[in-house]
Amino acid sequence: MRNTQGFQTRTTHRGIFSMRSMTRRIGVAVVAAATVLFGAACGVGSQSGAEGKVDVVVSVNQWKSLASEIGGDKAEVTSILANQNVEAHDFEPQPSDIAKLTTAKVVVVNGADYDSWATKAMQNASGVAVVNAAKAGGISAGQNPHTWFSASVRKATAKAYLAQLKKAAPDDSHYFDEQYAAWQKKEASLDEATAAVKKETGGVAYGATESVAYYLAKDLGMKDATPTGYAQAVENESEPAPGDIKTFQGKLENGDIKLLIVNDQEKNSTATMIEKTAKASKVPIVHLSESMPSKYTSLVTWVEALVDDFEKTSAH
Ligand SMILES: [Zn+2]
Repeated sequence: MRNTQGFQTRTTHRGIFSMRSMTRRIGVAVVAAATVLFGAACGVGSQSGAEGKVDVVVSVNQWKSLASEIGGDKAEVTSILANQNVEAHDFEPQPSDIAKLTTAKVVVVNGADYDSWATKAMQNASGVAVVNAAKAGGISAGQNPHTWFSASVRKATAKAYLAQLKKAAPDDSHYFDEQYAAWQKKEASLDEATAAVKKETGGVAYGATESVAYYLAKDLGMKDATPTGYAQAVENESEPAPGDIKTFQGKLENGDIKLLIVNDQEKNSTATMIEKTAKASKVPIVHLSESMPSKYTSLVTWVEALVDDFEKTSAH
């Protein structure tokens, strides 16, 4: 799953990142100067963001919108992995990334070994409240780590995050409650959409080139029919055995797999081959990516669009 392209974009990402922190430093300097001028010693420390906002850092972009929506105007949310082409599985952070995490007020990590560079960094950080999405949703290391696609994990994470925001800024508790209620409303409408589509997708056997949509397919009542050997090999970032690839292709050809899910962000020659077999066998395909595409501004909207895709595709 590692490719040169991934490494190149990672460098670009770092460039953008350091530029951002520079802007931030200038911003802090201006605030500091203003504080001296007006003699208002209100203790703007490293842990509070601009204008008294709670300084929130998320490890991966999948959780950024949730953090921003609930934090609203009272939180400054930064994502370490902002670039869609950077693979969280393989990411190697810069010291500046670690510094961001360890000096924040609230940190949201995905957990379940997806972003272990972030969870490890937080082990030595004191005074930072950590929200671990997987932990909040009852998912442990070794289980599927793509937790943002699970409705129950999203809800548990939002709840845990709200509690930490209120602790960080008790005066804004009421505001955060309102933001949270608004978020819940959106998630509830996604629940409705999911339940409606589930009537069509329930029980449908699917195969996946990579297990990114596991929880989403589960919420849609679908059955994972990906050959176990193939799935395990992909999970371990190794090449599936020829026999497992053949089994996968056979299931597509004989109709045991009714729908194929392709993770376009982790596509190698094997995945491309499986996709070709699906096309030749007229098995419908749902394409998605690991991180949130830039055209979406909200995790809920992104998942809603995917639920729509599943409906359209399974209706073929
Ligand atoms: Zn993945």
